Amino acid sequence: MATIKLEIVSPDKVVYTNDISMLIVRSTGGELGILPHHAPLVTGLVPHAMRVRLGVDRDEQLIAVAGGFMEVTPEKITVLATAAEQPIDIDINRAKEAMARAKARIEAFHQHTPESKDIDVERAELALQRAIARLRATKTEFED
Ligand code: ATP
Repeated sequence: MATIKLEIVSPDKVVYTNDISMLIVRSTGGELGILPHHAPLVTGLVPHAMRVRLGVDRDEQLIAVAGGFMEVTPEKITVLATAAEQPIDIDINRAKEAMARAKARIEAFHQHTPESKDIDVERAELALQRAIARLRATKTEFED
């Protein structure tokens, strides 16, 4: 079966490397499925749980990515992530706490109080998406 090399790097380490059969990512332009021999591509990534397929019958592996860029050549996919984690390395409680903080900020922003004008709601939305990506990658149940 045809495979393509995948390398996911964060600023401090190589998070994941393998020969895979398909990668499904959420790019700034929408969801993309990358197969071996894909046309060259560079795109931004939004926070999400990437789906890695190793073979036709094998389960998908999930990897949380906080954002960054993906470069595709016919032989190799390189993900340059601002942060990325394999499920085993994700601290679920930390992600739940990050989610609660982000939700509280977003809710406070929408109260339109004098204090809420100081809240950076876009930053809070991104923090929420990162927390959701980590909870999805670990298959943790949460309330949206
Ligand atoms: P927090 O508010 O909990 O720091 P964050 O979304 O702001 O979360 P990031 O800026 O995306 O965190 O990541 C900072 C560093 O912390 C990265 O190295 C990332 O891999 C790591 N990290 C963040 N959240 C978790 C988590 N829940 N489990 C494991 N590592 C995490």
